[in-house]
Order: sequence, then C-alpha cells, then structure tokens
Amino acid sequence: MAGHDRASGILRAVLAVLLGAIVVGCSPRGGQAGSRSGPDWNVLRERMVRQQIETRGVKDPEVLTAMRSVPRHRFVPEDYREASYQDSPLPIGESQTISQPYIVALMSELLEVGPGDKVLEIGTGSGYQAAVLAAMRVEVYTVEIRQGLCERAEAILAELGYDNAHVRCGDGYGGWPEEAPFAGVIVTAAPDRIPEPLIDQLAVGARMVIPLGDFYQQLMVIKKTDDGVEERSVIPVRFVPMTGEIERQGEDTQ
Ligand code: SAH
Repeated sequence: MAGHDRASGILRAVLAVLLGAIVVGCSPRGGQAGSRSGPDWNVLRERMVRQQIETRGVKDPEVLTAMRSVPRHRFVPEDYREASYQDSPLPIGESQTISQPYIVALMSELLEVGPGDKVLEIGTGSGYQAAVLAAMRVEVYTVEIRQGLCERAEAILAELGYDNAHVRCGDGYGGWPEEAPFAGVIVTAAPDRIPEPLIDQLAVGARMVIPLGDFYQQLMVIKKTDDGVEERSVIPVRFVPMTGEIERQGEDTQ
C-alpha cells in the first residue's frame, strides 16, 4: 500500500511539473510578451510607457506618443536587445550608453518644444533620443563626437525614415551655428560647466536641458531670458562625461 501511495505521489508530482511547463509554455516566458519568433516589442514598449514614464508623471502627449512609436530595440546593440524596454540605461559600445527610457521622456518634456521647432542635441550616441524628438515632429540637429557611433546613428535614423533628424560628426562644443537659433538645446553627455556657444545658439525664451557636474550630476533646465538665464535643478542623474573642447578647458583652469 505504502509503495503504491509513493508511486502515485511521484506520478502526481511528475504530472504537476509537466502541466506547469505546458502552462508556462502557453503564456510565453511565464507572462512576458514574446514567442518563438522573438519578443513582442509593441507590448513591451506599451508597458514601458505606462509603468516607467506615465506613472512618474510625464504628461506631454507628443512625448508619450513618440515614446510609444520609436522602436528603441533598433537603437540597442544585438547583445542587449532583449533588455531594450527595461527601466535602465544600456551599453551602446565605446563605453557609452543609451539613456534610461524615463530620462529620455523627461528631458524631451522639459524642452517644452513642439512640431516644427528646431532642437539641437549634443551627444547623438545611439540616435534614440534624436528619434524620439524627430517623432515629436521636431527638426533635430544632433552632433556626436565618436565617429563610429555617429555613423551608426545616422544610418539607423535614415533607415527608419526620420528625415527630420540631421546628424553631424564632431565635437558638439561649438553647437551648430548655421542652424541657430534653436527652440531647445538638449545635452546628453555631462560637462562640468555650460558650453558658452550653446547658450549663444539658444533663442530667447527657449530652454537648454543639460546634466551638469562630474561624478554627481544634476539635470538642469536653463531658460534664456532677455537679460541672462534662469536656472533650475530637476533631479540627480548620471551621464557619461562630455569630452573634447570642454574637457581641455577644464584642464587649463585646474
Ligand atoms: N542621446 C544618446 C545617449 C548619449 S550618450 C542616445 O539616445 O543614445 C552620450 C554621447 O555623447 C556619447 O555617444 C558620447 O560620445 C557623446 N559625446 C561626449 N562628448 C561629446 C561632445 N563634445 N560632442 C558631441 N558628442 C559628445
């Protein structure tokens, strides 16, 4: 009798495991979006917007629509693609990173720009932030200092049809004077002080969104006024350093 009980107990356990496997198999990755043909990016993206961005208070409808439409996974290298819609920054090569989705949305909102406005971005990186602004129907001028990243970003932006994103390879310290003034300037690498030419190229009444500082940085909004600038600090952030001319100037004054 005892042997029979043990045998049927084992049988039940085996059946439970098998059933469990079938249930998990039906609901891909135990409830995660996906299938044998790969993750369902649209489902992951919608979840990203709801759980990471709307709940943290981003409200600008143009920003939310753009975050829902831009295929972030296309800007992330193959090795990290599955993590594209997670709540974190990711490596994009050359020790650089694509920002956390919430930070991209927040910075886009803080610019307070709309369709047809011209925005200058310093630090193209993967091209994702530029694509989000382009999806907001903004005319984007973006500068990247690293040739490899610059060419890759330019190619993917063109492939995805963001014709209103213009990429230039070089040091963004000097901005893009031919296209100034800008209705917004967004800097996605951190200098320890504001590059003067970028203030010059900002229209009066427009905002610059910029992470300022060395290790500990503050995300700042700098509004250009008739008689100077108004600054406010938003949240602590962590960006890669802005390199090139601004670093050389820092060394000179040390
Ligand atoms: N906005 C990017 C993330 C930027 S990471 C995205 O959406 O993926 C910061 C980028 O700034 C890096 O690619 C780095 O190479 C670039 N960068 C640093 N200093 C720069 C400078 N002086 N001019 C232009 N780009 C710079």
